Amino acid sequence: MKLRKVLIAGAGIGGLTLGIALQRLGFEVEIYEKASKLLPVGWGLALAPNALLALRQINLDKSVLEAGHKVCWVQMKTWQGKILKEVALGALEERLGNSIITINRGCLHQILLAVFSESRLHIGNRVTSYKQYDKQVVLTLENGQEVEGDLLIGADGIHSIVRRQLFPYTQLHYSGYTAWRGLCNSSNLLKDGTYLSILGHGMRFGCTPLGDGTLCWYATYLTPPGKAIVDHRSALLLKRYQNWCFPVCEIIASTPDSSIIQTDVYDADPLVTWSDQHVTLLGDAAHPMTPDMNQGAASTIEDAIILADSLQLSSTLQEGLKLYESYRIKRNSHIVKQSRQSGQMEHIKNPLLYSLRNVVYAWTPVEMLLKQLIIVSKFETLL
Ligand SMILES: Cc1cc2nc3c(=O)[nH]c(=O)nc-3n(C[C@H](O)[C@H](O)[C@H](O)COP(=O)(O)OP(=O)(O)OC[C@H]3O[C@@H](n4cnc5c(N)ncnc54)[C@H](O)[C@@H]3O)c2cc1C
Repeated sequence: MKLRKVLIAGAGIGGLTLGIALQRLGFEVEIYEKASKLLPVGWGLALAPNALLALRQINLDKSVLEAGHKVCWVQMKTWQGKILKEVALGALEERLGNSIITINRGCLHQILLAVFSESRLHIGNRVTSYKQYDKQVVLTLENGQEVEGDLLIGADGIHSIVRRQLFPYTQLHYSGYTAWRGLCNSSNLLKDGTYLSILGHGMRFGCTPLGDGTLCWYATYLTPPGKAIVDHRSALLLKRYQNWCFPVCEIIASTPDSSIIQTDVYDADPLVTWSDQHVTLLGDAAHPMTPDMNQGAASTIEDAIILADSLQLSSTLQEGLKLYESYRIKRNSHIVKQSRQSGQMEHIKNPLLYSLRNVVYAWTPVEMLLKQLIIVSKFETLL
């Protein structure tokens, strides 16, 4: 299909991956990003094999693999340090060609930025609304400028303006927990290649080395939303996690407050469609999900590759968007629901249910866990 111009709102992981994929297929693309600077700052992301398989389609899997660090095994413990489960990820790598990797989000973003044409990226340009006409869509920017195109893709994240206009009744759903993420230089506190997940009553801690001497970690706990804490973050977490097994407090204590961020975690019930005429959605804008299955960025990258391929393969825009949705909505809806369930399981507070959940985790066969992981981590191409 020939489209004159494709407009993308948002230059996050999804917007840039889509921009690159479309440019490779010969589409004219313009990306509008609200941030006025795109700095290489970030925190740790776990990228599942499906992300790397999708990135292979645009020849970026190797650079992302080089910048990332392989996770060889996952260890799950109770807050007192009792091992619940150990899963070696060799079978995942054997089956899909890659294991899970961890990467600094800023680093992944820079890899994408280096490939997308600079002159087509308009930073400091917040999208405020759009209007649809018979044959085109017109985007309005905060500075009042209007831009016309054949297709607009809302890749503008969880609080998407495009989604709000397209589906005004969609509500975000608070997961019940807030997430803290940090980066410290103490990678020696954990065996290389380990992804450690520690479970307490209504709270959790996880960490893994990034391979560059740094270690990324997260701490999540049940709390009402909107309680942003600005000062003494590390001290507050040390108090909450006191008495937790090694290396929780050691990691928190070695992280400066400036390297800790807090995010209240939301998702949304899956939508049955993502598109209307000349507008569609992608990534967190289309399917906000909790991070409990580490699939947010991976599914966003998959969306981008499949959308570009769908447009390339179809003879009309409507056919292309239908094909895109038919490949993506069912799979992502399943992951959104599974992530929500997994988040609820991992934040159980009731002592009886907590013990029961731990027994279930301890007794679930490793083969069954690997089988589930392989299903979620597969990627099927269109082209
Ligand atoms: C605590 C936490 C931990 C996570 N951990 C993982 C993990 O380990 N692995 C994983 O795969 N995923 C993880 N995720 C999810 C992952 O970060 C997201 O799914 C992913 O970043 C989505 O990419 P995106 O491009 O859709 O959105 P974003 O990365 O949010 O990008 C959206 C872009 O749009 C821009 N924008 C917003 N509004 C406008 C506007 N009006 N006009 C123009 N531009 C706009 C923003 O500035 C931004 O650049 C985690 C998420 C959270 C909250």
